[in-house]
Amino acid sequence: CGQCVAHCPTGALTFRNDIQKVYKAMEEEKFVIGMIAPAVRASIQEELGLDGDVVTAGRIVNFLKMIGFKKVFDVSFAADLVAYEEAHEFKERLERGEKLPQFTSCCPGWVKFAEHNYPELLDNLSSVKSPQQALGSVIKRIYAKEMGIDPKDIFLVSIMPCTAKKFEAEREEFAGEVDVVITTKELSQIIRSSGFDLKSIPPIPFDRPYGLSSQAGLSFGKTGGVFSSVLKVLNDEIGLENVETKEVEKGIRITNATTKDGKTINGVVVFGLGNVRKVMEKLNDWNVDIVEVMACDYGCIGGGGQPYPNDTEIRIKRAKILNEVVGIDVLISPTENYHMLSLYENHLKAPLSHESHKLLHTTYKNRKRIKNGDIEIIPLPVDEDK
Ligand code: SF4
Repeated sequence: CGQCVAHCPTGALTFRNDIQKVYKAMEEEKFVIGMIAPAVRASIQEELGLDGDVVTAGRIVNFLKMIGFKKVFDVSFAADLVAYEEAHEFKERLERGEKLPQFTSCCPGWVKFAEHNYPELLDNLSSVKSPQQALGSVIKRIYAKEMGIDPKDIFLVSIMPCTAKKFEAEREEFAGEVDVVITTKELSQIIRSSGFDLKSIPPIPFDRPYGLSSQAGLSFGKTGGVFSSVLKVLNDEIGLENVETKEVEKGIRITNATTKDGKTINGVVVFGLGNVRKVMEKLNDWNVDIVEVMACDYGCIGGGGQPYPNDTEIRIKRAKILNEVVGIDVLISPTENYHMLSLYENHLKAPLSHESHKLLHTTYKNRKRIKNGDIEIIPLPVDEDK
């Protein structure tokens, strides 16, 4: 509603249309690359009459190629990468007993909320970039070099369920990684105005090498996806037993697991920023080690860039579609994603290496300042031309 838009601290509810930037880049004959987030494939069907179509992503890939995109990659590939890196970060913190609980950092709505409201916890946020920014960094700094393309000639279009991602891409520390973010709704506008019927476009695979993803990476599109992906990596690396999950209330779930050497891991999955405040009060009581936070109800499937209506019933339906998409993926864990492992072998060396830190990690800012006894909020810079 208008009131929510006016007060949203995250930018997730800001309306902005960036379609013209995509057309302009194509006119300028840039090397246009697209990347599609997992939650988009669960919702765009609502606008285009593809109810429950598990190959929607493949149809979109083909459509984007038909209108001039040179390559289309899968953000789920980068979700595997992020989960892999983040699991190793958590394992290291657990061993050292520092910066716990670790909070996920994939959701820019949550990150900005934390910068404004919980600056004392910023060291606890995972320093791993979101999948959008991690893939942007890999494409502009590794892929461009491998392909012999000047990164300035690449125009990277990120297709997201989320308007907060537009602001994330504009954060100064990420400058130039992603050129424009368009939402599910904006993509459906492009498809409709092209005159193509998506249903009649046969699906084709994402491009290599960033087109492969595991069930874990795909599950980033809904609440619990990041946490369960990190657990999968931990299970593969150190072995987990007695994994039990219980729902505390709508939007808050607790999972307990035991490592092979007998240490207990307590994880919380929370969606909705109102619920975050409740969880913050319970961190000590619940002895929490790791927290996944998603600002939107049910995670990215309920994002601000998704089609309307965007109510609970629709979100549950999107989760079901995404579960089906996840269910037919042959790879289960990020550790099975051989293209991701090749990226480490050939470029990043190892999780948390110097190279990984340069490409995949970031820092956060305290945006809460006390001035004359009042709290002054320091907003993210907004480009007035947009
Ligand atoms: Fe964006 Fe997903 Fe966070 Fe919502 S939950 S603000 S859609 S990243």
